[in-house]
Amino acid sequence: MSKIGVLTSGGDAPGMNAAVRAVVRAGLDRGFEVFAIFEGYQGMVDGGDRIQPMSWSDVGGILHRGGTVIGTARCLEFLERAGRLKAVKNLLDQGIDSLVVIGGDGSLTGAQLLCDEWTSLIEELVEKGEISKETAVRHKSLTVMGLVGSIDNDMWGTDISIGADTALHRITDAVDAISSTAASHQRSFVVEVMGRHCGYLALMSALATGADWVLIPESPPNLDAWENKMCDVLQNGRRIGRRDSIVIVAEGAKSRNGDPISCEYVKEVLETQLNEDARVTKLGHVQRGGAPSAFDRNLSTMLGSFAVEAIDSNKYAGSANLIGIRGNKICLSPLYECLAKTKEVNQAIRECNFEKAMELRGSGFQEAFRTIRTLVRAMPHEQEPSNKHMRLGIMNAGAPSPGMNTAVRAAVRIGIDNGHSVFRINNGFEGLVKGEIEPFNWMTVNGWAYIGGSQLGTNRYLPANGDFYAIARNIEEHNLQALLIIGGWSAYEAAFQLYKKRNSFPAFNIPIVCFPATIDNDLPGSELSVGADTALNNIVDAIDKIKQSAVASRRVFVVEVLGGNCGYLALMGAMATGAERVYLNEEGVTLSDLREDVEGLVHGFQEGKRLGLVIRNENANETYSAEFMESLFEEEGKGLFTSRRAILGHLQQGGNPTPFDRILGSRLAVKCIRFLEEQVSTRGSEAACIGLRQGKFDLTDFQDAPRMIDEEKRRPKNQWWLQLRPVARVMAKPGVK
Ligand code: ADP
Repeated sequence: MSKIGVLTSGGDAPGMNAAVRAVVRAGLDRGFEVFAIFEGYQGMVDGGDRIQPMSWSDVGGILHRGGTVIGTARCLEFLERAGRLKAVKNLLDQGIDSLVVIGGDGSLTGAQLLCDEWTSLIEELVEKGEISKETAVRHKSLTVMGLVGSIDNDMWGTDISIGADTALHRITDAVDAISSTAASHQRSFVVEVMGRHCGYLALMSALATGADWVLIPESPPNLDAWENKMCDVLQNGRRIGRRDSIVIVAEGAKSRNGDPISCEYVKEVLETQLNEDARVTKLGHVQRGGAPSAFDRNLSTMLGSFAVEAIDSNKYAGSANLIGIRGNKICLSPLYECLAKTKEVNQAIRECNFEKAMELRGSGFQEAFRTIRTLVRAMPHEQEPSNKHMRLGIMNAGAPSPGMNTAVRAAVRIGIDNGHSVFRINNGFEGLVKGEIEPFNWMTVNGWAYIGGSQLGTNRYLPANGDFYAIARNIEEHNLQALLIIGGWSAYEAAFQLYKKRNSFPAFNIPIVCFPATIDNDLPGSELSVGADTALNNIVDAIDKIKQSAVASRRVFVVEVLGGNCGYLALMGAMATGAERVYLNEEGVTLSDLREDVEGLVHGFQEGKRLGLVIRNENANETYSAEFMESLFEEEGKGLFTSRRAILGHLQQGGNPTPFDRILGSRLAVKCIRFLEEQVSTRGSEAACIGLRQGKFDLTDFQDAPRMIDEEKRRPKNQWWLQLRPVARVMAKPGVK
């Protein structure tokens, strides 16, 4: 059986540890020997104790740590054939002919080269008498699986790289903080973020924070006097009441003719043209550091497991591949192709061929850029009288979910900018019944990008019989021609009610779109709902702390998380925190499960385990409650371990939305407005749920949605994430230290 080597190389990125852990554990689970190659290619060239076999417990306790515990380095020797020759000898000394390389495009270029040269390198080693002919025959080719570990997200072949989501967390936290101080002093801030060749971090953080201007390498301002334009927008913003101005600049930002645009230059421009104090903040390495986000931990875990599975399948023997994620699905592509495309973008930027650079970045990137250009406007465009206008009502309904405000902000601004009259409906369906409807204006939503909860007010009110008449009257009175309903299960339920009563109430014959916003992630028509990522990060933050305290005292923790009847938060939370066991409503809990888990835990603690973590969904089983489980584990621990329970409750729902939720919220909002515009302009009255499906934004007609849900269980029939259960199971086991 092939032996696997795993290394992290180039710039470090949060989430690399989770990937190493996944490769080691998935490898051991499949019977491979797995070696860590310390300090990247330097360790490969040096050999000796820098290439070490890894055990299950060697990668314990690293999931939540930033950076990479196996080290990374830049290695000049590896750039030369002589260095690579040494590296191959060292690999073969251990019998390694499969590699999982986690790094940026430099590291992956090195991996491709090693794969291409492998045959000639081993021939040379045979000629020099350094390895035997048998060894050369046994290891005639090298298999490479590359995972993109880079906060810049600048590689072709994956929608997102390991570390980029965490970097966005660091940036949005910093910019949120800067905004509040900037607003207090009416000051301008220029914030520099990483990205020498890629504007991803700058663009997405601008979208997530509600920044006022953004400069990226791929799409410089397309005018010569862009400075005047920027200052005009910022000045107009001030005039209508914005108290702060934030300009986000990517490290590699440049002008139309290719000259770099530095933060210092932007600051100078602001100070001279606006005649006010401007400050520069370079976020620098803060962006790379700290604990990885829930998303990065799970992404890395999935990619690492898949890499081992791909090696095990033998289908890719002798080739170099990149494993990435596209549209929520893990996919494998030839590495050389990804490297070539990545170089093409960089080349296009160097040659100032910005159109091509944007085209190569893909439609999501382009659309985010278009959206941000609308959102940063100080005031909406002047409208052509011929533009089709609509009167649009926007509301929240159901439980509050982080990201709701971000979505409303985007919908309001895009709606107004497109010439529509936008109305706010306060306090969910209750407000719609009572007629709590008023016009929205451009500045109402200023600063809403980062606020958690629901500024519009929301509740679980479900309209009852007499209410429908009142709702119909209010819709008619305000002449609402379209409705955007942002919320969770009860929002969808109420919207369906209106839809079903269309025959009795003609006012309900207007286009309606339901937008998924709930931490439970249990809605039809979308694989992800806005708010779930924030809740997941809240869970992970809390459990990281709980684990720290539990390790000190040999303890099994039973942690209960929200989710209704949907186990998404429980399973993804378990994967991101390394829980040994997760109980879902989808699977239920049986006495024999509990017996098996108790026996596993007892065995694990006898072997030296210091911590046990069990996560249960709130509705996993009514009888076997968190309290019951705690008592059971305490009793059966018999002094070997104690047990405690933690019910995380509403802290999961609170806090500012994560960048992921803000970005998803804004992008979905754009699609909603487009759908409603199409409907109104064609006199259509379709009602649909919007969502992310296989990486695409899709609409599901209300007619089809009921078939997708299990009414009784209140969740979709098909839950894509259930297929991740085997991965989570392999990564942590009750009976293993
Ligand atoms: P990143 O992987 O983050 O892009 P670098 O570009 O610094 O980081 O690459 C990390 C290491 O990968 C380098 O120090 C070198 O050892 C190796 N490497 C980079 N480019 C090449 C190349 N063209 N050929 C061989 N090895 C390379």
